[in-house]
Amino acid sequence: MRKVYADHAATTRVHPAVAEVMARVLTEDFGNPSSVHGFGRTARKHVEWAREQVARLIGARPSEIFFTSGGTEADNWALRGAMEAARGRGRHLITTAIEHHAVLDCARQLEREGWEVTVLPVEPVTGFVRAEDLVSALRPDTVLVSVMLANNEIGTIQDIAGLVAAVKARRPDVVFHTDAVQAAGQIPVDVGALGVDLLSLSAHKIYGPKGVGALYVRKGVPFSPMLYGGGQERGHRPGTENAAGIAGFGKAAELARLELEARAEHARQLRDRFVAGVLERIPGTYVNGPDPATHAARRTPGNASLSFEGVEAETLLMRLDMEGIACSAGSACTAGSVEPSHVLKAIGLPRARAAGTLRFSFGQDNTQEDVDYMLEVLDRVVEAIRGIPVAE
Ligand code: PLP
Repeated sequence: MRKVYADHAATTRVHPAVAEVMARVLTEDFGNPSSVHGFGRTARKHVEWAREQVARLIGARPSEIFFTSGGTEADNWALRGAMEAARGRGRHLITTAIEHHAVLDCARQLEREGWEVTVLPVEPVTGFVRAEDLVSALRPDTVLVSVMLANNEIGTIQDIAGLVAAVKARRPDVVFHTDAVQAAGQIPVDVGALGVDLLSLSAHKIYGPKGVGALYVRKGVPFSPMLYGGGQERGHRPGTENAAGIAGFGKAAELARLELEARAEHARQLRDRFVAGVLERIPGTYVNGPDPATHAARRTPGNASLSFEGVEAETLLMRLDMEGIACSAGSACTAGSVEPSHVLKAIGLPRARAAGTLRFSFGQDNTQEDVDYMLEVLDRVVEAIRGIPVAE
């Protein structure tokens, strides 16, 4: 059976060159980067080379990159680090209804601990954040704004530079964080052009290993550590470095920078062929998020979020899995009831449409033959499912 991996937004296969670097650090250059002897110095070289590569991917200085255990830790640290550092000066943070749980759930926890949180709505269908909503949510005690650069479910790319400019024109002291986990390696990301103070990254979305990420902290931004210990990462994120993971992240970041345009073009072509094929062949299908035909620059190149009328996403997901196709549901299934995801709710999708939504995300592993196979299978499977009466 043909196997098609169309879930690159969930994670990606480690690039062979990344695996090679990691194997070397695990088995040969295995020293503790903090040790002063030769073994340690060699491991340190890998970590610092990686820091340089990650910095180059986003136009930062190496000293502004702090390695973490992934995107989730980077997001949590961004929120807590900025809020803690502002203790006594302010207690309000602003975020949006379509953030990843790593931001939203952390914000909710901060709220339980006494901070105040405003969650901004987004535009229907596209998921764009309106600058005027953000500006009118600013308060004298606002410390932090967190708006993601690219959304993981519907691919929406926010105008972060515009949002930062709108905020800083009124409140230059407000810290601006962006979650760029789904943007890096997909679109050019430059911290200078964006104007952000904090930015989160994750290696496993860019053909690097799982369990490693980074937080960019612009020089001079008031920021507190989240952990205390041995002083690694200039005392901001102590703990013996995940040297192999970090080295792999560095290699993945280098390749992502060098191959950015080619990778994006490849994913975009496959996504566009797929979306056009689905809309043409299968009646009752809809695209969620910015329209790839008219808003290509405002949507990540590999993302296709599609709703299939009269279809339960979980059923379709399983039927596709049986045919060797891996994608992702836009709804989380909790205790037998299918609850639409917070993102689909926030863009105003009617419940029935949200319940029939799947995310397909294309990447380096995919080919045109994959797309043709997916179209053939989807056509057949959707028709078969629609023929089955839905239980009340
Ligand atoms: N932020 C976004 C937008 C994501 O898509 C993800 C991963 O799904 C994360 C954060 C979390 O990253 P990690 O899996 O490295 O913890």
